[in-house]
Amino acid sequence: MSQTAFHPPLRTLMGPGPSDVPSRILEALSRPTIGHLDPAFVELMDEIKALLQYAFQTESQLTMPISAPGSAGMEACFVNLVEPGDKVIVCQNGVFGGRMKENVERCGGEAVMVMDDWGKPVDPQKVEDALKAHPDAKILAFVHAETSTGALSDAKTLAELARRHDCLTIVDAVTSLGGCELRVDDWGIDAVYSGTQKCLSCVPGISPVSFSERAQHVIANRTHKVQSWFLDMNLIMAYWGGSAKRAYHHTAPVNAMYALHEALLMLKEEGLENAWARHRENHHILRTGLEAMGLEFIVPEDARLPQLNAVSIPAGADDAAVRSRLLADHHLEIGAGLGDLAGKVWRIGLMGYASRIENITLCLGALDAVLSDMGAAINSGAALPAAEKLLAHHEA
Ligand SMILES: *Cc1c(COP(=O)(O)O)cnc(C)c1O
Repeated sequence: MSQTAFHPPLRTLMGPGPSDVPSRILEALSRPTIGHLDPAFVELMDEIKALLQYAFQTESQLTMPISAPGSAGMEACFVNLVEPGDKVIVCQNGVFGGRMKENVERCGGEAVMVMDDWGKPVDPQKVEDALKAHPDAKILAFVHAETSTGALSDAKTLAELARRHDCLTIVDAVTSLGGCELRVDDWGIDAVYSGTQKCLSCVPGISPVSFSERAQHVIANRTHKVQSWFLDMNLIMAYWGGSAKRAYHHTAPVNAMYALHEALLMLKEEGLENAWARHRENHHILRTGLEAMGLEFIVPEDARLPQLNAVSIPAGADDAAVRSRLLADHHLEIGAGLGDLAGKVWRIGLMGYASRIENITLCLGALDAVLSDMGAAINSGAALPAAEKLLAHHEA
């Protein structure tokens, strides 16, 4: 066992999260800890809420960070809105939709599954059929950006369908927030959760959530107590709510909140739409290089996430060996396949601060070197020139 201080190796994080955290955020994290009810901290909480409203594009007052990772935000949405016996239509096109089903069932609800192939977006036609077949459904739940496959679903259309059929919506925006268009109020989303370590490029461990007025009404009028004490929004509101008098609920991770505040400031400074455009442009450059190398995307072009690029592993490449050489020789982390796609794909993230030109050229160069050396079936030497052609254009 090591008896000395831990100094992590320096990595470039281009997996499915966490993504590269800029030094400006790490520096915020290291500022002195103050009390979680200190008036200065209460002011910071109000600022974080306002910045989150901007990031989610919502005016909802019930918008705040849960003091736990994205999975807790997911659970917060389900335990507050689902009561025993409730019917929930759950769309699954990857790993995270499966977790939604688990959540519904653990709340005593009934999950009606709408299944799509891994790598495909959620099919609105199937969702409409399910809504018609189950007029008693209370909620429609789906993943906006499926990080396990790199597929983007049409959240606007899906939320509209739900509203037309008098259903609430629960949307997983863990990977979409800050990385691609998301408009919670305009699209009429009722409950949404995200994470700090993907396109916000903050440290892991916090989950921003937001609930619409309709959702708040449902939560306030439940017949059963929320099964989770920690995630009961009725109680959390006493701490994070708008009133001047804040009551102790739990000790907020004070320093992590400094970091989140800094990350949200950076997003605001860049501008939400500029951040979405940057993710799109960098995806285009990376994709051009990967395709020149001969790697194939598993998601159809019109449904690809700019922030998560899933490509098939080429013949002659040993999945684990490639990833460990990227890490050892190039200090570069890319993601392995998850669930059904384990061993079949790599997931290359361009999330938040990691969505930069330097990272793209590092990744293309390193992948080319390792795969060529291994004798994998790729077009050696083709990736960087193809990407650089776009860069010259980009800078002109
Ligand atoms: C990462 C992720 C989660 C889980 O977030 P954690 O912070 O790991 O708990 C949930 N949904 C999606 C789509 C994700 O990408």
